[in-house]
Amino acid sequence: MAATPTVPEVVLPSSTGQRKMPVMGLGTAPEATCKVTTKDAVLEAIKQGYRHFDAAAAYGVEKSVGEAIAEALKLGLISSRDELFVTSKLWVTDNHPELIVPALQKSLRTLQLENLDLILIHWPITTKPGEVKYPIEVSEIVEFDMKGVWTSLEECQKLGLTKAIGASNFSIKKLEKLLSFATIPPAVNQVEVNLGWQQEKLRAFCKEKGIVVTAFSPLRKGASRGANLVMDNDILKELADAHGKTIAQICLRWLYEQGLTFVVKSYDKERMNQNLQIFDWSLTEDDYKKISEIHQERLIKGPTKPFLDDLWDEE
Ligand code: NAP
Repeated sequence: MAATPTVPEVVLPSSTGQRKMPVMGLGTAPEATCKVTTKDAVLEAIKQGYRHFDAAAAYGVEKSVGEAIAEALKLGLISSRDELFVTSKLWVTDNHPELIVPALQKSLRTLQLENLDLILIHWPITTKPGEVKYPIEVSEIVEFDMKGVWTSLEECQKLGLTKAIGASNFSIKKLEKLLSFATIPPAVNQVEVNLGWQQEKLRAFCKEKGIVVTAFSPLRKGASRGANLVMDNDILKELADAHGKTIAQICLRWLYEQGLTFVVKSYDKERMNQNLQIFDWSLTEDDYKKISEIHQERLIKGPTKPFLDDLWDEE
């Protein structure tokens, strides 16, 4: 297995103490077919040099991520929890101003951590409080009090429960609304970005406002979920062959060259290592010309059944 590089970091401007975030993190969204446990995967990732982990209350993985961190400390793989950047997300059932602080405290107890590095609003949607259900039934949806929810998140940062706060799946229109009243602007907007959904407008907006974009589904969910726009793309196959790399590495290198942060999920030792090998080579101008020809289509259309017409504000 190739030696592991140190993953570059970016500063989160609105975080306490200007927290640094490794540009690449390990995703932990569950996959029914995956045989490796989250605890084993996170522990292996720490061994390989991953320092950034992307969890969520709705994934049901916070306990396992916490156990892996505790084990890594016990084994001396890291000397302090502060060497890691841990993100979690609040589910739509907790998007009520009075439920935010208790929900984050519950996540912290489950993770066995005193604080998070980043907490995100998973989706700009609120449902009645209760159990996580996926997909979300539209009949469960109530009004999303963005200002009230955000004020409670700001409280979480002030209380030291998290070093930074952010959004996920926010359109430009929703970010503009958020910025109109935020006293702590969102450090991050985590959204789908991959070679098949390049999100140029949203990225330009976030750059202008100092919001770090974290790309999710950077491989459009990889090869294990069947054919997809990037992993089975002939243009990308050609580029990968020319560079002596894999298509996944081309996808991740492109995100890195865009100045983005990204969370990629692999629980497989070899692929985890492969995904880290993207920091010492580059794409060419000609590659970029070919990349601009890739058909663009959003993969993740929303968490509800049926999809909501106004979720993305037609962006
Ligand atoms: P992804 O990272 O694009 O793809 C994951 C899939 O790709 C897995 O099946 C993985 O299988 C496979 N894979 C990984 N590396 C590979 C490689 N080098 N070659 C071939 N296949 C490879 O998709 P994702 O899990 O949807 O997104 C990543 C993370 O983003 C999630 O885990 C989650 O943390 C976050 N996310 C957030 C949201 C949100 O609403 N905020 C939505 C979706 C995802 P193996 O494990 O077998 O390698």
